[in-house]
Amino acid sequence: MKLLVNFSRGKGRKPIIAQVVRDTGVLINVERAVIDSSEGEALIDVPDDQCRLVSDTMINLGARVRILERGVTLNESECVDCGACISICPREVFSFNADYKLQLVEERCVLCGKCLEACPHNALTLPV
Ligand code: SF4
Ligand code: SF4
Repeated sequence: MKLLVNFSRGKGRKPIIAQVVRDTGVLINVERAVIDSSEGEALIDVPDDQCRLVSDTMINLGARVRILERGVTLNESECVDCGACISICPREVFSFNADYKLQLVEERCVLCGKCLEACPHNALTLPV
């Protein structure tokens, strides 16, 4: 299960992900992170059965947490199978099948949004 975590990095704050790993014993896979001196946003992947434990622990440490159940979504009626999204995606979510129709593996998506900017037909959306 993927969790989108936003947290403050104010003075004296401990590194939240490391702290949650230590406190819960859950191994957290960080798929994407943008962190500056004052705040951070990280997309993490955790086992489904430990999602609630990790989420609650992070919230108790002051983070905002969103559980993401979906990755990128394709509107097949808008897609023209141009392949622009294939080359831009850093996670190889997209490929062509044997008939050169676009196919995707949604679970690989890390919600970076690059494919949405590349698609000329607005055929892709991310969960809001
Ligand atoms: S949002 Fe990013 S990771 Fe997800 S499919 Fe688009 S380019 Fe790939
Ligand atoms: S960029 Fe858009 S139109 Fe082109 S293959 Fe990808 S989803 Fe389809």
